Amino acid sequence: MMSLLALGLMTITCFFTSALRFDSAKVFRVKPQNENQVSFMKSLASLIQMDFWYPDSALHIVRQMEVDFHVSAEQSNTVESLLKQNGIHYKILFQNLQEDIENQLDGDKNLSHGYSYVKYNEWDEISDWTARIAKRNSTLVSRFQIGNTFENRPIFLLQIGKKSGEGKAIFMDCGIHAREWISPAFCQWFVKEAIRTYGKDSNMTYILDNMNFYIVPVVNIDGYIWSWTQDRFWRKNRSNTSQSNCIGVDINRNFDIAWGTVDASKNPCEEIYCGSAPESEPETKAVASFIRSHLSSIKAYLTMHSYSQMILFPFGYTYEKTANYNELNELAKTAAKAIASLYGKVYKYGTSASTIYPSSGCSDDWAFKQGIKYSFTFELRDKGKHGFLLPESQIKPTCQEIMLAVKLMASYILNKAL
Ligand SMILES: [Zn+2]
Repeated sequence: MMSLLALGLMTITCFFTSALRFDSAKVFRVKPQNENQVSFMKSLASLIQMDFWYPDSALHIVRQMEVDFHVSAEQSNTVESLLKQNGIHYKILFQNLQEDIENQLDGDKNLSHGYSYVKYNEWDEISDWTARIAKRNSTLVSRFQIGNTFENRPIFLLQIGKKSGEGKAIFMDCGIHAREWISPAFCQWFVKEAIRTYGKDSNMTYILDNMNFYIVPVVNIDGYIWSWTQDRFWRKNRSNTSQSNCIGVDINRNFDIAWGTVDASKNPCEEIYCGSAPESEPETKAVASFIRSHLSSIKAYLTMHSYSQMILFPFGYTYEKTANYNELNELAKTAAKAIASLYGKVYKYGTSASTIYPSSGCSDDWAFKQGIKYSFTFELRDKGKHGFLLPESQIKPTCQEIMLAVKLMASYILNKAL
């Protein structure tokens, strides 16, 4: 009897802990031509479980926008026939997501002596790496804990640079959204390159001799783990404080800037749920508190997301331009040029509101309003061919091109009297 019960429990546990599969799940791309088609897409989203890849939510859909969304195998026929009936042209970007999930890990498996920067690393590996890299490079790197996640995991920050006291600094975070795996891969790459080229590359040496980088390799650790173990397309954190059964808050709607106003959702079941209050989430609080207590040194805020290849700057919550719009636009333009010089990848640039869509409670707007005049959101590769499933073979070229942009911004800020 006992063993049967135990077996039953085991089965239940296995059932609930095994990762979701996406066999024959599809990703569609549509481009609504008129208001009718926009409202059709919005009503479809309220009837059918659709996971929006771009934009983040059906709320953001407007005319002539390329909209990418993922639907389950069971619903894809229905969606396809409804699109046809309504005369909406579509492309199927992914025929079988499960296959692409598996193909994403296409890095060289034989490379693995030591830590690999050209594969996606799980959180435990990244966590160990933060400790190791600080210990081995103690004159250049220190590790701090800036808070805990909802599930009580320590959030680490790496400080890189030789500058002590109140010098200039750049704050950079990765992994605010769980499924955007290329983002944490970039933070790791940046740290590795900074250490490797310090003392060799004159530009990097000058930067690190004169300013510090504060780097949070993964902000949304709980969500990142969930995207590895349970649901590859998880976006939010894992907090369950709302009254509903839905889990998670969009950390990038949870900052204290126009919170809960334009195009954020107060519905906990939405992907862009802004939480119960500004900074209600411990991950948001950790980042915001650290920045607040280092405002005298932090001159730039960089946050890494994917996908769509863009360099965005404030504002997102309004179409109004910042007082230093021309300077930000010029800097973004130069950065985009540097990126394109390497592999020809085109990154669009401009304010968030005008380049993607308006949104509130975002970290870049918040940082700007704290007085950090250089605040940028990077949307890394690609433009939808692989989307969140960017293959490991693209980690290196993506990181190399973004590295150019970050170094360029760092030099600019260093050379400017601020
Ligand atoms: Zn994101």
